[in-house]
Amino acid sequence: MRNCSSTQRALQAARRHAVITCKICGGASPLFDVVDFYKSCNFRLYRLGLSGIAVGYRQFEQCAFIFTEFFDDFTADQWKRYVYNDNYQDVDPGY
Ligand SMILES: [Zn+2]
Repeated sequence: MRNCSSTQRALQAARRHAVITCKICGGASPLFDVVDFYKSCNFRLYRLGLSGIAVGYRQFEQCAFIFTEFFDDFTADQWKRYVYNDNYQDVDPGY
């Protein structure tokens, strides 16, 4: 029986290869890039270091729209806690 982390990795791998259709044109969307969750808009891209949490981005083949489904299930509380918190201006100075 798999432990929790190996199951989680298997699920993430399956998700990377899942066919997701574009919400705009209906085209296929292969994995385009993966960045660490702590990547920011600050000129020092990884000002906070690395979180170890991979955020995958897809690029739809027909319309070139780039998109992540990583935040689709984020709650309002998670947005406040993990993204738009008291330190947000440090990672997005132009905000
Ligand atoms: Zn599209």
